[in-house]
Amino acid sequence: MASFTLHGIPVSRGIAIGRAHLLKPAALDVKHYLIPEDQVEAEVSRLQNAIATVHKELQTLWNELPKDSPAEVGAFIDVHALILSDPMIAEVPLDIIRTRHYNAEWALVTQIDELSAQFDEIGDPYLRERKADIQQVGERVLKVLTGTAATLPKQDADGSAAHMVLVAHDISPADMLQFKDRSFGGFVTDVGGQNSHTAIVARSLDIPAAVGMYNASALIAQDDWVIVDGDAGVVIVDPPQVVLEQYRERQARLMRERKKLGKLKKTPAITKDGTEITLLANIELPEDCTAAVEAGASGIGLFRSEFLFMGRTGYVGKLPSEDEQFEAYRKAVTLMKGRPVTIRTLDIGADKPLDTAEQTALNPALGLRAIRYCLAEPQIFLMQLRAILRASAYGPVRLLIPMLSHTSEIDQALVMIEQAKGQLRDAGKKFDPLIPVGAMIEVPAAALALPMFIKRMDFLSVGTNDLIQYTLAIDRVDHEVAHLYNPLHPAILYLLSHIISTGARENIPVAVCGEMAGDTKLTRLLLGMGLREFSMHPTQLPSVKNEILNSDLTILGMQTRKILRTMDPVAIAESVSQLGTL
Ligand code: PEP
Ligand code: MG
Repeated sequence: MASFTLHGIPVSRGIAIGRAHLLKPAALDVKHYLIPEDQVEAEVSRLQNAIATVHKELQTLWNELPKDSPAEVGAFIDVHALILSDPMIAEVPLDIIRTRHYNAEWALVTQIDELSAQFDEIGDPYLRERKADIQQVGERVLKVLTGTAATLPKQDADGSAAHMVLVAHDISPADMLQFKDRSFGGFVTDVGGQNSHTAIVARSLDIPAAVGMYNASALIAQDDWVIVDGDAGVVIVDPPQVVLEQYRERQARLMRERKKLGKLKKTPAITKDGTEITLLANIELPEDCTAAVEAGASGIGLFRSEFLFMGRTGYVGKLPSEDEQFEAYRKAVTLMKGRPVTIRTLDIGADKPLDTAEQTALNPALGLRAIRYCLAEPQIFLMQLRAILRASAYGPVRLLIPMLSHTSEIDQALVMIEQAKGQLRDAGKKFDPLIPVGAMIEVPAAALALPMFIKRMDFLSVGTNDLIQYTLAIDRVDHEVAHLYNPLHPAILYLLSHIISTGARENIPVAVCGEMAGDTKLTRLLLGMGLREFSMHPTQLPSVKNEILNSDLTILGMQTRKILRTMDPVAIAESVSQLGTL
């Protein structure tokens, strides 16, 4: 197969080289026709031959596995070989051809649909997951039957570890989380934007990823060799040897640089002119605290608590109970050993539905999301508040409320926090009565009406991901408008600098916890605006710290003021890239 290159949106840095693993194979959509009686046995042989060819393919895959490839790669091939040999796949479809005269593809799909339906009934989640394996095996056989089978590279191009690169039309944030403990090399999806939650999780996994690839999942075949350049948003399929070599070199260089940066872990983040900057971590699950401490974070600036709630089928009855939540929050507090943990209350809705089967609103990003959802579901909100408050008895906890934009919402949220405290007092449970409460500034209305927050809140945290989405009217998950999602738009720079300077003037701490805070290309700009608190994925912390160590605030302040008066996006981008170097 000839090599080809796909261009999309870079979302998680680094380079991955490995074989493609199609997460959700294309729909088993085949032609249906009836076979005349005298051709039935020929049709049976056609299916038998296709099955035999797939057996050989799997054998070749197995033989070509490098010695140090992860165990799951081998196990995955074994499972597929077993499925293929099972009479359910190897025999039943043959009977269907003989009895019902279906063509081979139709017979196979009929049986796979039947098996899939049976798997849906199974309670055991592990067994239920095997449905995907059956579908993938079916897909392989179909490819042979329809003559679209990918020819496997004869030569194993990989001399070292064979990683798998997941290729999918889309991966939900909840699905992405499942990969936390799996060793995949990279991710490629057809849809998605730079700051979709899926992209954010990919970044937190520190796995090279590119999204918005349009039809990558149709163009890339199972087991194709692919290079994912997560910095450029480029995917090279079946690369020639010389390209592969170049990328291997770059990959090795990046690893070396990262190792060097890792040594900064214990170095305080102090600018050249002596100002200490606070570097905090964003996490999705309590276990992520280990990586945060490891990266040298001085606390958690954003715990996206909704990830504890996602991916549970069903509704209220299936939500994590107060005790389950409390254990999760307490775990984070304990793991952070006295460093503050900022827990954001449930930010559900938009691209983070509670249940993927749930009907989405007409315009979910503008709908019942985050605090709006919580105020509409007071029991869920109160339960979460009690759980967070209880965790505050074990170490410093701060409460962060997302998407606030009306005084009534602020007031209602504060009343409910007091109500939750009252309930705990009545139940004789301990908590920090002075728990700091902060607001996320992520709706333009909030940014433009800061006095609403200043008297009522203890701290502010700017959610630039949403602030950009709502200010520029760009859906952050829609790849078709992703090119317009620009953190350097003059309106965004104006709002950001306004929030930061107002915070300094009014003596209310301001952090940035959106993706801008972890982007090293923007560190100097944010410092120049006066930002002193950054919250980002633990993996980004060392390189942001490196930028800080090499920055001089006096120079950056002057240069940034000039940028803020510029309206030309090209000139802004140019000046930002040169900040501190002139
Ligand atoms: C943001 O909007 O910038 C933010 C940090 O919150 P989330 O990405 O979870 O919406
Ligand atoms: Mg947000």
